[in-house]
Amino acid sequence: GGFQSMGLSYPVYKGVMKKGYKVPTPIQRKTIPVILDGKDIVAMARTGSGKTAAFLVPMFEKLKAPQAQTGARALILTPTRELALQTMKFTKELGRFTGLKTALILGGDRYKTPHLNASYPETLISVPPRIIGTPGRLMHVIKEMNLKLQSVEYVVFDEADRLFEMGFAEQLQEIIRRLPDTRQTLLFSATLPKLLVEFARAGLTEPVLIRL
Ligand code: AMP
Repeated sequence: GGFQSMGLSYPVYKGVMKKGYKVPTPIQRKTIPVILDGKDIVAMARTGSGKTAAFLVPMFEKLKAPQAQTGARALILTPTRELALQTMKFTKELGRFTGLKTALILGGDRYKTPHLNASYPETLISVPPRIIGTPGRLMHVIKEMNLKLQSVEYVVFDEADRLFEMGFAEQLQEIIRRLPDTRQTLLFSATLPKLLVEFARAGLTEPVLIRL
């Protein structure tokens, strides 16, 4: 099966083709149909496997449906600023025909995000924004700007083992607590240490385990 047999809508399919992806990678072939089916997943995948598109492509499909309430609908958590920036770039490229707006929240003290302070509240109320960020910065923004996560439908923990190694476990739990129960949650990780399995058991609903 190629991308054309996945039942993607034309704007999403066109984004994938314009990016030059002709055939799905193995991880994309295994995850995209399951995600489109609405299931939570734990996917063992490393950088280079095409994991970013594996969660972005079905995300675009999910966010096509009209929004029930204003606010961010998808939340992608990444361990590093570099990965967040790269994911932002992929989101813009792959999603360029979908008309969805993306906001980026970057972590780290060195990185001030003036554009965020200036434009973030607008992005939040414009439909439908997505938030890609690092957990430390996200918690700060949630508190400082009173960001509500109640509208979030789609959550991705990208490179989850690294998120945990970097000591974000407590912040991840706190974020999970603020999310609505009806969400779809995806966890991508190169390795599955015990802590992560426990986190997935608590935070995901009957996740499908996908490995290559
Ligand atoms: P990732 O593992 O998400 O960091 O992606 C690794 C690289 O593979 C990136 O340069 C992607 O643009 C590229 N890529 C992802 N999916 C495909 C695909 N189906 N066909 C060709 N290249 C891809």
